[in-house]
Amino acid sequence: MAGIYIHIPFCKQACYYCDFHFSTSIKKKDDMIISLEKEMMLRKDELGTESIKTIYFGGGTPSLLSSEEINRLIETAKKHFQIDENPEITLEANPDDLSKGRIEELAKSAVNRLSIGVQSFFDSDLKLMNRAHDSIEASSCLKNAQRYFENISIDLIYGIPNGSDEQWRANIEKALAFKVPHISAYALTVEPKTALESFISKGLIPEIDEEKAASQFFTLIDLLEQNEFLHYEISNFGKEGFFSKNNTAYWLGKSYLGIGPSAHSYNGISRKWNVKNNTKYINSLLEDKLPYEEEKLSKIDRYNEYIMTSLRTMWGVSLNTIENRFGESFLSFMLDQASEHIKLGLLELDGKTLSVSRKGKFLSDGIASDLFMIKLR
Ligand code: SF4
Repeated sequence: MAGIYIHIPFCKQACYYCDFHFSTSIKKKDDMIISLEKEMMLRKDELGTESIKTIYFGGGTPSLLSSEEINRLIETAKKHFQIDENPEITLEANPDDLSKGRIEELAKSAVNRLSIGVQSFFDSDLKLMNRAHDSIEASSCLKNAQRYFENISIDLIYGIPNGSDEQWRANIEKALAFKVPHISAYALTVEPKTALESFISKGLIPEIDEEKAASQFFTLIDLLEQNEFLHYEISNFGKEGFFSKNNTAYWLGKSYLGIGPSAHSYNGISRKWNVKNNTKYINSLLEDKLPYEEEKLSKIDRYNEYIMTSLRTMWGVSLNTIENRFGESFLSFMLDQASEHIKLGLLELDGKTLSVSRKGKFLSDGIASDLFMIKLR
């Protein structure tokens, strides 16, 4: 079982907080599509005979591609890989690209899941983050999308400076009123070299209040759990039957092939990452050269990777998996490292599973890194 991720590196405008790879010029869009197809062709044997259960268009803004271009890429994937009979095909889309006509067109394509970058239903939040849509588009695209798609996820962002707790609660209530079956919610973070970092350092935007962000995170958990959402990964909540198959496979350590500039691939043995530059990516493929670097993963890397991803999920870290995959010494190391966190109530040991407690959820990445083994090269 494996998945294909296709990175579409174009956006209409740069959101102030974003450090993903994208260009705001779409001049190279046609060359990019040809290069994405070429990369799939050149890497067609990398997943062997594994059946591909999911295709995920991420970005950037994949909804900037026309439906024909998206269909073309899906057909190319089908030509070169063993795609499951009924794959989950997700398209990340921004509200300003989802007119009624566009949604109708997408409904006729093989895309069967939309992940919509709503982020907030309030114009003040959207302006502060420099999103390209407004609150009216956020609501209207959802109304229209729900007429054609059952499997819809929306992204929301909390911890926004100037955004009140009441506003955040109203955001969640609005999402609940739409009855979307999946919500991904992320704390606004200040990444280096972003406009947000610069505005905060100049005092133009207030600093992020971590305590407020943590309390908004717990409001989110409470409201969504009261409404039958399962908190299956730190940033992801889904109704039964609507978890993202693509992301779940990734968190459970399945193989995936990342196509496109900056995309990462993983096959349990090595990790590859494509060049983070559109021109270099296109030129490399023009010369039939694959644009990635590769790192073979050591046992310690694989152990750290397993801890990092599993601890973020509701399934937690399986003690049996640690012992069978990495050996008894890794298991006792991990339990030793975990003991202080268990005492503090941040981790819970339930039979053969270690997971983060409710109290530890907002700190899960830090807790995971405390269980990492350090490589001495
Ligand atoms: S639309 Fe998405 S990828 Fe593009 S700049 Fe905004 S957050 Fe980043």
